[in-house]
Amino acid sequence: MKSIAKEDFVLAMSPDHEAALRASSGETVMFEAYDCFSNTITTEEHKFSSVGWERINPATGPLYVEEAVPGDTLKVEILDIEIEDQGVMATEPKLGGLKGNITQEVTKLIPIRNQHAIFNDNIHIPINPMIGVIGTAPRKGNIPTGTPGEHGANLDCKRVTKGSTIYLPVNVPGGLLAMGDAHAVMGDGEVVICGLEIPAKITVKVTVLKDIKYPLPLLVDDEYVMTIASADTLDEASSNALKNMHAFLVDVVNMNPEEAGMLLSLVGDLKICQIVNPLKTCRMELPKWVLEKHHVTLQ
Ligand code: CA
Ligand code: CA
Repeated sequence: MKSIAKEDFVLAMSPDHEAALRASSGETVMFEAYDCFSNTITTEEHKFSSVGWERINPATGPLYVEEAVPGDTLKVEILDIEIEDQGVMATEPKLGGLKGNITQEVTKLIPIRNQHAIFNDNIHIPINPMIGVIGTAPRKGNIPTGTPGEHGANLDCKRVTKGSTIYLPVNVPGGLLAMGDAHAVMGDGEVVICGLEIPAKITVKVTVLKDIKYPLPLLVDDEYVMTIASADTLDEASSNALKNMHAFLVDVVNMNPEEAGMLLSLVGDLKICQIVNPLKTCRMELPKWVLEKHHVTLQ
């Protein structure tokens, strides 16, 4: 299997980056990823502010997928997320959803044992390994890996897990896929500024799709089809996620707009992915049985 070492990373999604590796559509590639602190926090004496922004959110890559040309869709099947046996969390009083309520920089190392994060003696949390940053290059400009958008990147969506598939836009030749910022577990919102940050080996299969009109990014797992959208405010992000799912029902599932809206109002769940990045991210979850009832199969 081809692989990209963690030392091959980018700090921005950009059309200007050299490919770290080239692969063909249909190939499987392993991305070895640092944690979001570039593995620099190794003791509880190391604080968030000691890391430096030039080491925050490295994304391994980019991968150039040979057949990908602008206008295509890149299908990324997440085959495995192998995490290490210890993760880290860090508070920063000036950041996150609790600024004003949290006054100290505190670092907590959290071991993983028997598929649980050992938060303390009493609280052992079942892990749910997920990818925080996964994206392609925008058409132009450098977008920091910490900023989410239509090209993916720092979506911090807890359903980007092993067994899920994310569809991303191809804006530049090769697509230039990069990923990192794995979490052993994270709640919707990622409220304090981080998940359980952890180095990981992420194995994905990449496939180039032509002439697909899915609203992107689109995420699919065993239970749901999900549109994901990011914006300055949660109001805008939720509205965009909703409208993207509505467009999916109209354009891909062939429902009329009113029926689609009513169905979404009954069985769609509008959720928050994260509130702590430069843009906020929401997702609209649609149960997969809706596709089955309409005999729609995604590519
Ligand atoms: Ca993140
Ligand atoms: Ca993170």
